[in-house]
Amino acid sequence: MSTYRGRFAPSPTGPLHFGSLVAALGSWLRARAEGGAWLVRIEDVDRTRSSPLWADDILATLHAFGFDADEAVLQQSTRDTLYEAALTRLREAGHAYPCACSRSDLAACGGVHPAHCVRRPIPGQAPAWRLRVPDESITFDDVVHGHVERSLREVGGDFVLRRANGEYAYQLAVVVDDGEQRISEVVRGVDLLDSTPRQILLRRLLGLADTGWLHLPLVLDAAGRKLAKRDAAHPLDAGDPLPALRRALAMLGQAVPASPSLRPFLADAVARFDVTRIPRGDHPHVALQDD
Ligand code: GLU
Repeated sequence: MSTYRGRFAPSPTGPLHFGSLVAALGSWLRARAEGGAWLVRIEDVDRTRSSPLWADDILATLHAFGFDADEAVLQQSTRDTLYEAALTRLREAGHAYPCACSRSDLAACGGVHPAHCVRRPIPGQAPAWRLRVPDESITFDDVVHGHVERSLREVGGDFVLRRANGEYAYQLAVVVDDGEQRISEVVRGVDLLDSTPRQILLRRLLGLADTGWLHLPLVLDAAGRKLAKRDAAHPLDAGDPLPALRRALAMLGQAVPASPSLRPFLADAVARFDVTRIPRGDHPHVALQDD
């Protein structure tokens, strides 16, 4: 039995679109080809942008495309107690500090939090909590991108763990959950490559074991921008998944099976999956001939 554990972690802020399908397919193929488990986590810590309706819609689309999680789907909005325990640990070890800097304070500092807060916390008003980031570089090996080295200061300096409104930030929640779910390799879009050094730092500070990393190419629109959920030009047709799956496989550099039915198509895609063929670069969204 393989110890590989992968995951797909969509934010329910809109329907699954073609760009996120590529990430779902990439993580699913890798987990299946490794004979491991594939988990789904709904990343709804951002309560204002997330909706349970989108979460249901995403899960239904994943199911229609042949991707079902091997364990119960986890929802971040139910896990504040775990995030709070992690924040307490970081606070008690002196790694986290309260911060009352506003967005405009940060904008005035070039978007990077300065070594000391510009504003003192106001008594009676909840501060944000930030991680104190050391002035060092983090290195890691990515399955697609090879050896990566990033300065923690250059990827954004001291970052938020919990917002002033009480919401836990993505970086903290994702690390706690990847650790607690024993994810052995994080497979996701290369737009999150600069988050990886921060997450490695957090894992170390929280005493979590190392995990593997595999960053997939992004799908770009005709203007060279990452496809976004609001980009209605590339909806997925849950009633006819194969055309989008063929395109997504091609974008991952994989052989496209000939089968006209979903299950044999996916089984063949797993059998022929070759991780070394995943391209590093991003792709424009080009239609294949059978579209
Ligand atoms: N929830 C993030 C997103 O939808 C992905 C986070 C991750 O895979 O680490 O962009």
